[in-house]
Amino acid sequence: MRYDIFVDYLERLEGTTKRLEKTKILAELIQKAGEDITEIIYLVQGIVFPQWDERKLGMSFRLIIKAIASSTGISPDKVEKSFTKKGDLGLVAEEFIKNKKQKTLFSKDLNVKKVFDNLKKLSSLEGHGTVSKKIALVSELLTSANPIEAKYICRTVVDQLRIGVAEGTLRDGIVWAYFPRIIGINDFGKHKNVLEVKKLEDLKNLKKYDFIKAENDKLAREVYNHFVDVVQKTYNIVNDFAVVAEEVKKNGLNAANKDIKLNPGRPLNPMLAIKAKDFDGAFKDVGMPALAEYKIDGFRAQFHFDGKDVKIFTRRLENVSNQFKELIPIVKEHVKAKSFIIDSEIVGYDIKKDKFLSFQSISQRIKRKYDIEKTSKTVPVMIVVFDILYKNGESLIDKTQEERRSILEKTIDEKKHKIELTKKKITNTTKEMEIFYKESLKKGNEGIMIKNLKKIYTPGRRVAGWVKIKPGLEPLDLVIVGGTYGEGKRANALSSFRLACYDEGKFLECGMVGTGIKEKDNEVTFESLTKLLTPLITKKKGKTIDIKPEIVVEVEYEEIQRSPTYNSGYALRFPRVKQLRNMEKAAKDASSLDYVKKIFMKQRQQR
Ligand code: AMP
Repeated sequence: MRYDIFVDYLERLEGTTKRLEKTKILAELIQKAGEDITEIIYLVQGIVFPQWDERKLGMSFRLIIKAIASSTGISPDKVEKSFTKKGDLGLVAEEFIKNKKQKTLFSKDLNVKKVFDNLKKLSSLEGHGTVSKKIALVSELLTSANPIEAKYICRTVVDQLRIGVAEGTLRDGIVWAYFPRIIGINDFGKHKNVLEVKKLEDLKNLKKYDFIKAENDKLAREVYNHFVDVVQKTYNIVNDFAVVAEEVKKNGLNAANKDIKLNPGRPLNPMLAIKAKDFDGAFKDVGMPALAEYKIDGFRAQFHFDGKDVKIFTRRLENVSNQFKELIPIVKEHVKAKSFIIDSEIVGYDIKKDKFLSFQSISQRIKRKYDIEKTSKTVPVMIVVFDILYKNGESLIDKTQEERRSILEKTIDEKKHKIELTKKKITNTTKEMEIFYKESLKKGNEGIMIKNLKKIYTPGRRVAGWVKIKPGLEPLDLVIVGGTYGEGKRANALSSFRLACYDEGKFLECGMVGTGIKEKDNEVTFESLTKLLTPLITKKKGKTIDIKPEIVVEVEYEEIQRSPTYNSGYALRFPRVKQLRNMEKAAKDASSLDYVKKIFMKQRQQR
């Protein structure tokens, strides 16, 4: 596909905020992609590798400024000034290319493959002369580009495409692109290869090129949802829409996971848990007997071993192998398999007290780039394993929890304070479960996980295969004292809010929140909050504002931590806005600092 045709789609995507409209445009693009499907699926997300791949383009703003300068003949200083003004290198490139008096002699048509290949090459350059080679690769593209093409090349290089294509929209776009036509009653009969669907199970007879006649609208919707589900499931295993699209193209929507295999080195979305109401509720959710395990307060880690290299991925599929490299020889030695994927929690521990430490104590290690070796000694961590998803070339995710746990126990050669299995208890009484729960809290854990012994591993899903029980902390009523405006399309609305508690006439900050607030159709939306807060703005600096403390919101959170960042000395972990409280509460009625302290102490006693 020609690159100018491709960027036309990007322009259309940028031009609408409506999700259905975006889905339609994506479906059309995917249908027209032909053999460039892989490149197009990546580039429409503004990437050239899947997000979890450690290869990065590694172009700083400074280098792109140089590339724009060298391809337009404008001085780097001038380019930089324009960037400071516009805040978007794409727009800067667009303007300068537009103003370029005459096209250079070397100008030629760009196609998607050429752009993709040049960008991909950026990541593989190493050693002497890398910088100038990188600039040359980007300026080569910019020299051939028209202004709109230049805009998107630069935005892709800086990893800010700004066209608003979310994961779910791309998934739906793939479904729409390959959806077998559902034929209305009237023209039924004109077509060959029509599969009549009376119930969902009939779909198992669907061949790739068949049409579908669904019995009624309800069933047609179910068929559609089923396909969305298949594509999402495939994605949860490979985390790469290019692989998903290729697979759907090859096998059709119905068999979209036929050739999909787990692959050590390529992370899968971890299975998630839902919250149980109480012990009885937990049994209702997962059946009896159930597998109860300590819920460890570290961070989720998938260890992959392909026979050669070990890779470690977080819950968000970030590759943290380098930050935790001291764990690599441990799994190589103590996981007895030629290849494997294990699911675990990395957790800090206190050798003297023989207790795990809270997540907070090791969180600093996740993003660390320097002094990795030193912190691995000052902040020691260990692995607590709870699942195995792959062993010796075979996927285990379709085996039951019971089978997987049993394979796991045979595979892990435990070593204290290095690699251990989560403590477990198979139980069928609430009494026993409660004792196990209390014991777990006493050991400093977060609570317990209760697992259905008969369920398979469902990547990326929050299903009743696993449920969690942990002490709930009461919500706080906090005052909004500041905020930040969003990016791009959302630049006119506030997207995050600074929260404060009350202490003797002062408002002391204890966190920042941007979750729990909906885009639309909810009592608390970004728009309604922006409207409510705008008259209360007292100071504005760039995107950040101070707000007169008046509006109170009810906030839920996972935990309260000590924090030097906020002047209250405390920070909420994972806060979510539950509802507005401004009708019931004035700012001075907000939760007091003393109350925040009290909950902080209470939560410590539970450890
Ligand atoms: P939550 O983050 O509260 O939704 O709880 C789910 C998280 O608990 C998982 O993503 C894991 O990081 C963590 N976890 C700790 N212990 C276990 C365990 N035994 N089984 C599964 N997940 C666990």
